[in-house]
Amino acid sequence: MNIEKKRYIIFLYSLFLMNFVIFVIFMGENEMEILKQRILKDGVVKEGNVLKVDKFLNHQMDVKLFNDIGEEFARRFAGLGVNKILTIEASGIGIACIAAQHFNNCPIIFAKKTLSQNLDGQMYITQVKSYTKGVTYDVMVSKKYLGKGDKVLIIDDFLANGCALMGLIHIVEQSGADLVGAGIVIEKGFQVGGQTIRDMGIKLESLAIIDSMDDGKIVFRD
Ligand code: 5GP
Repeated sequence: MNIEKKRYIIFLYSLFLMNFVIFVIFMGENEMEILKQRILKDGVVKEGNVLKVDKFLNHQMDVKLFNDIGEEFARRFAGLGVNKILTIEASGIGIACIAAQHFNNCPIIFAKKTLSQNLDGQMYITQVKSYTKGVTYDVMVSKKYLGKGDKVLIIDDFLANGCALMGLIHIVEQSGADLVGAGIVIEKGFQVGGQTIRDMGIKLESLAIIDSMDDGKIVFRD
């Protein structure tokens, strides 16, 4: 093969590689465009800076959208060795269950808000203030299911002031496991949680970041 031909093949190969990278990036953005469009279509802004997304996320659940969300989390946390997903009841559970299928079907642990007879043995316990209900409650995870050697991804539906996420981070710290990062479906970027968590050096990936919801108009960060 002469040198010209070799150069031509290398040129074609790099062109293909470049297109592939652009395609992958574009696909990722596109997936989350679906989420943003859904928020605009079905989200309702309520008093107290609460976004109601009961139609597809918090009450009725859109499994196809959950699958796209899970796929996107898997893309953003690829190659980091996630072997467990931690979330908090109740809304995080459905999202985490579908996401886990994109992380080699790894186990999901959801932090419980009430002590039940199903919980025996020792617990990691922390306190969380509920954004939507305003009350503070204990959340707990059995020591049987989280410990040294685990690589944990935290998943939740919303990030507002960061109380829920900080509680889950505290549980991971108590367990001695490694925190890989946190995946959030909707971050309200005008509240302090995102900044606080990023300032701690934690890899935080929010699939849709809302910069404002004034007068019911939702504006996303680019
Ligand atoms: P944070 O603890 O970050 O202040 O709030 C996060 C938690 O509160 C999430 O687990 C979520 O359940 C709930 N939350 C916070 N803001 C909203 C919101 O605007 N809409 C809904 N549906 N839940 C929210």
